[in-house]
Amino acid sequence: MELKYEKKNIYAEASEEEMQAIFAYAEGYKAFINQAKTERDAVKASVALAKSHGYTEYKIGDPLHIGDKKYLVNRNKNVFFIRMGSEDVAENGVRILAAHIDSPRLDLKQVPLYEKNDLAFFKTHYYGGIRKYQWTALPLALHGVAIKADGTSVEITVGEDESDPVFYVSDLLPHLGAKQNQKTLAEGIEAEQLNIWVGGIPVKNKEKNPVKANVLRILHEKYGICEEDLISAELTMVPALKARDVGFDRAQIAAYGHDDKVCAYPEITAMFDTPSEHTVIGVLADKEEIGSEGATGMQSALLNDILEEIAAARKANVRKMRYNSMCLSADVSAAYDPNFPEVFEENNSAMLSCGSALCKFTGSRGKSGSNDAVAEFVGYIRNLFNANGARWQMAELGKVDAGGGGTVAKFIAKLNIDTIDFGVPVVSMHAPYEVVSKADLYSAYKAFCAFCK
Ligand code: MN
Ligand code: MN
Repeated sequence: MELKYEKKNIYAEASEEEMQAIFAYAEGYKAFINQAKTERDAVKASVALAKSHGYTEYKIGDPLHIGDKKYLVNRNKNVFFIRMGSEDVAENGVRILAAHIDSPRLDLKQVPLYEKNDLAFFKTHYYGGIRKYQWTALPLALHGVAIKADGTSVEITVGEDESDPVFYVSDLLPHLGAKQNQKTLAEGIEAEQLNIWVGGIPVKNKEKNPVKANVLRILHEKYGICEEDLISAELTMVPALKARDVGFDRAQIAAYGHDDKVCAYPEITAMFDTPSEHTVIGVLADKEEIGSEGATGMQSALLNDILEEIAAARKANVRKMRYNSMCLSADVSAAYDPNFPEVFEENNSAMLSCGSALCKFTGSRGKSGSNDAVAEFVGYIRNLFNANGARWQMAELGKVDAGGGGTVAKFIAKLNIDTIDFGVPVVSMHAPYEVVSKADLYSAYKAFCAFCK
């Protein structure tokens, strides 16, 4: 028995075989995240993966049997994976893995298109907690869907293919930035300045807004949509950047939307790869970044409905089943950043490449808004990970008074289910390009495998 608890760098300890497994697993993740920039994209990519593992579609009310492997797509923005195990669900409960698949971004307003000085722009309304100054002067891609007057939908993706155009938000040149430089980071770029450059060629012989008219002409030609169709649309601008390795040694991965696809991917791959007698539910939730609201967020009744369907199928008491269930709320934590040591408390921070982070509690100030897992459950999970060779570390977000945050854990815990936060540490969380360690990503996969086993 080790007398002291010490964080250990996985790369320093890993065998040659483990190093190969870490790097191979990262390739699968990079392919996934490149296809999963929005929650709609992530639903599609994860359902495709599930189908390749024998999962079939399920709708609320359908029968469920032992051995079933099902997926339930909720409004194209949220998905549940269900694996019906053979063990007694009332006595042993079910095992729930929950991550979210929405990420901060620039949504288009519902009346987005306007023209100014012979240039056409989209107005945006940012989604989630962004630092606005980070979203200027970088290539952006348009993702989403528009519902037309006849009720049909058209999917739009522009900016991901090398031959596509990209979109852009401007910033000031340093030569004229003297006054802007005096502003705080929070004020330097304002929400109403996050306008997307979408056109610059006017149609000929038209007096009013000829550039906007040309953009509308192109949208109609390519997608069969008119301006009013943009009102019933979800269109969003995300960085037109692909996942890339970082550093000479390729220890890390940079990508848009690690928060929280870097937990979603190990969650579902572990669930698909680890057969067992447990009943397992994998949730990929929408709207975490705006408070888990709405019918596709974690506060929706749908998870509870699924639990009731499972209990009914197994003729089990659902209240007893919930009481005996447990959940890993899989969301990213903040990685300690040596560039900004002032906001971290080293002993209780997630150190990069030391394993995914268990967080007993999240929240702000005096743990406000936190789930705060009971010590008995923390002990159970710690021992489970240790017994299965899953590397982990204990962490909280940062210094107590530096800020705070929370995620879906509290909404699942409210159902009377033991829940703890666990996730991959991220550098520059919510920036257009975030960084994670491949070793931590793989440790999350191993931990989720232990949980499903
Ligand atoms: Mn998150
Ligand atoms: Mn987040």
